[in-house]
Amino acid sequence: MRRNGKGSLMRPEGLPDSSSWPVVTPLSPSVVYASDTPDALDDQYEGRAQGFTYSREGHPNAVVVGARIDAMEGAEGGVMTGSGMGAVSAVVMGLLSAGDHVIGGNQLYGRSLRLMAEDLPRLGIATTLADRGDVASVEAAIRPETRMILVEVLSNPTLRLADIDGLAALCKARGILLVVDNTFTTPRAFKPFEHGADIVLHSVTKLMAGHSDAMLGYVVAKDPALTDRMRVFTVTAGLTPSPFDCWLAERGLLSFDLRFDRAEATAARLADHLADLPGVQRVIYPGRADHPDHAGAMALLDGHGCNMVSFELGGSGSGSGGRAAANAFARAAQGRLSFAPTLGDAGTTLSHPASSSHRALTPEARARLGMTEGFFRVSVGLEDPDALLEVFSEAISAAT
Ligand SMILES: *Cc1c(COP(=O)(O)O)cnc(C)c1O
Repeated sequence: MRRNGKGSLMRPEGLPDSSSWPVVTPLSPSVVYASDTPDALDDQYEGRAQGFTYSREGHPNAVVVGARIDAMEGAEGGVMTGSGMGAVSAVVMGLLSAGDHVIGGNQLYGRSLRLMAEDLPRLGIATTLADRGDVASVEAAIRPETRMILVEVLSNPTLRLADIDGLAALCKARGILLVVDNTFTTPRAFKPFEHGADIVLHSVTKLMAGHSDAMLGYVVAKDPALTDRMRVFTVTAGLTPSPFDCWLAERGLLSFDLRFDRAEATAARLADHLADLPGVQRVIYPGRADHPDHAGAMALLDGHGCNMVSFELGGSGSGSGGRAAANAFARAAQGRLSFAPTLGDAGTTLSHPASSSHRALTPEARARLGMTEGFFRVSVGLEDPDALLEVFSEAISAAT
């Protein structure tokens, strides 16, 4: 380490010499990186040497966490973004042009739907939404200029399954890119590249980082040339994540498999428990035999059911009685379950689509999707399973 004069604000170069090294990835908040000479910069920009320049263009913490997710997805060179929506934006804005057409699943994440409905058409990119559980209806939406199909494996919050294998065959035959948002399923339950996807993206904010303290996205294509185009757009549009969020997410990933397995096992128990409660009218969990896509989900997800469970309070319909029961349930659960619009946290969270993610729909449109005022989505966390089941029993009996 070279030292500066006393009291100088000039930057020291490098860290103290040490013959040992940290076992934890150092956090590198530096926005800018210094180089030896203009020749050294040439080497870096022309790919003869590895190095960082300016953190919007990349930084060590993004590289480290990206490599971990690459290994989980069986991918290489994935791009980290400042949020899951940053990853969705990098795909559509980095790869599509005015005049192109994209098909989206009709039950995509709310902001992805908004991008499809509002922003892409404004930029001259045409969009169509289709039922991704029904390959024929997706095929019927294809046009000569269709470049991409974007789907999630399990829909939110009704947990219906996409026909990924059917869509992959269709995309291959028609030369269309299949993009899979793997946020709900995660590489623990599903590896899109093994099922013919061309591009995989994540909201790392959710289960992968897992503690609701880091906002982050990830996207990678099978074809490195496509990944490069998304990386360039990410840098140009300023979608780069902060080093601190990457650092927190790396820590979260160290326990990801354990957290996923625990949350999934509890979710399976909770689903069966809810189905036995008199105050519950309907339970939706892909691991249960009464789920409409049970057989398909077990085959596609290799026996996994994931950590999300949805249910409907008894006698709740779409009217004010349903809302009153929903309010009473959320109030009774207060302090023990967070009523909060996210998923994948260490704690169990509840969301109520009729007042949040799906509030823009009419009650009739929601009813067609099977979402009444008494409908809740549960993201199961890591609590003691027996205690968690008890909280649901108590809050539901107080509400119904
Ligand atoms: C949350 C979410 C996103 C968006 O991710 P952010 O990190 O919140 O930007 C995209 N897709 C799915 C399925 C999500 O659940």
